[in-house]
Amino acid sequence: MMGSPILTTASTILCPHGGRVVPTSPDGRALAMGQPTLAATGSFVVTGCPHAAPDGRPDPCATVHWVSSGSRVRAGGLPILTQISQGVATSARGTAAGTVMIAETQSRIAAE
Ligand SMILES: [Zn+2]
Repeated sequence: MMGSPILTTASTILCPHGGRVVPTSPDGRALAMGQPTLAATGSFVVTGCPHAAPDGRPDPCATVHWVSSGSRVRAGGLPILTQISQGVATSARGTAAGTVMIAETQSRIAAE
């Protein structure tokens, strides 16, 4: 099994509308290609989401929670995120927007 590339602070993660998913508490206890890996239990915010509700009011994605890390690998006891992890973006008003997209990550270090 090849495994799935590990996500780090240098990975590009987008909400379903193209906003940027930013880790606010990268763990830092484990590195991949010199960048901190991301724990599925960490905090994430979404910036720049253009989504508006059907009534026209802005309803941008605000946070992401990860429903599956997709890997059994842990760093510091926490499950780390990989390219097949599944995260759901939610707006400040509680609208579940859908699954985030992992647009880019390092490809050298993988986890099963
Ligand atoms: Zn969004």
